[in-house]
Amino acid sequence: MVKQLENKVTLIGLGAMGSALTGAFLSKGYSVTVWNRDTTKAEPFVRQGAQLAADPTSAIGASTITIICVSHYKAMRSILEPVKDALKGKVIVQLSSGTPKDARDTQEWVEAHSASYLDGAILAWPSQIGGRDTTILISGPESPYRQWEETLKTLAGNLTYMGEEVGASEALFAAVLSYLAGSWIGFCHGALVCEKEGLRVDQFGELMQMLAPILGDESKHMGAVIYHRNFSQPESTIQTTGADLLALLRHSEEAGISKDLPQFAADIFQRAIKRGYGGEEHAAVFKVL
Ligand code: NAP
Repeated sequence: MVKQLENKVTLIGLGAMGSALTGAFLSKGYSVTVWNRDTTKAEPFVRQGAQLAADPTSAIGASTITIICVSHYKAMRSILEPVKDALKGKVIVQLSSGTPKDARDTQEWVEAHSASYLDGAILAWPSQIGGRDTTILISGPESPYRQWEETLKTLAGNLTYMGEEVGASEALFAAVLSYLAGSWIGFCHGALVCEKEGLRVDQFGELMQMLAPILGDESKHMGAVIYHRNFSQPESTIQTTGADLLALLRHSEEAGISKDLPQFAADIFQRAIKRGYGGEEHAAVFKVL
C-alpha cells in the first residue's frame, strides 16, 4: 500500500472538537482548508494560515481527504447532501458521534457517490487532540485507512483501526460512554457525600486518580469474566456488594441527599439476587441488564 503523501486536509466543523482537530493539523504544518456554518469561527485559523472555503463544495474540492466533526450525523448529512456531486473520488472521515447504524447508513450513502468512507470515534477531550496517548478509533475499508493512517495520527498518537465493519467505532464509543455515564453520576453522588460530611471534593478527586490503575485492572477483569461467562470465582459476591449498596441507599436517606444513584444501583443488584446470582461475582449483574 502506497502511503498518502498529500499534505492537504479539509476540515468541516469548527466547534470545540473540530477546532482542536484543525489546530493539530496546522501545528504540524499541513495545508488546511476549513468550512463552518458560522464563518466567524474560522477567523483564528485563517490567521494561522488556513484557507476558509466559500462553501462545502469548494472545501471538499480543496483536498483528497475531508474530516467532518459536527454535532451529529444529521447535521453532517445536511451539509453533504446538497453537495453530493463533489464527493466523487474523495475520502470522507466522519468524526461526529452517533450510533453504529448511523455509520453504516452513511457509508452506504457516501460510497454510492463514489467516495471512500471511514468512521471514527474520538475518545478524548479537545485539549488532548494531537497527544501521543490520545485515542481515536477508526473503522471502515482498510485500503483508505492505511493510505491516510499517518495523516490521521496527527490527531491521535493512539489511532486504532477497528476493522472493516464500519459501525465498530461508534459501538465502542457507546460502550465507553455508558461506562463514563456511570462514573460521572457516581462521582457527583460521591461529591454530595463528601460535602455533606465536610470533606473536600477536590481531595476525593485526587483519591479517585490514585485508584485509577486499580479501576483499569477492574475493567479488564470484568471484560474477561463476562466474555468467558465465568462468574463463579468471586472475590466479592453480588450478595456482598448488594448489601453495600443498600447501606449506600440508607446513607443517602440519613444524610438527606439524592437517592437517585443508590436506588438505581441497589435495585439492579437486588434483582440479580432474586434471580439466584447472589453467590456470583458482581460482574454477573450483566445477566439481569
Ligand atoms: P460543538 O462545539 O457544539 O460544535 C458543533 C459543530 O457542529 C459546530 O461546528 C456547528 O456549527 C456544527 N453544526 C451543528 N449543527 C449543524 C448544522 N445543522 N449544520 C451545519 N453545522 C452544524 O460540538 P463539539 O464539542 O465540537 O462536538 C462535535 C462532535 O464531536 C460531536 O459529535 C461530539 O459528540 C464529538 N466529540 C466531542 C468531544 C468533546 O469533548 N467536545 C469529545 C468526543 C467527541 P456552528 O459553529 O455553525 O454552530
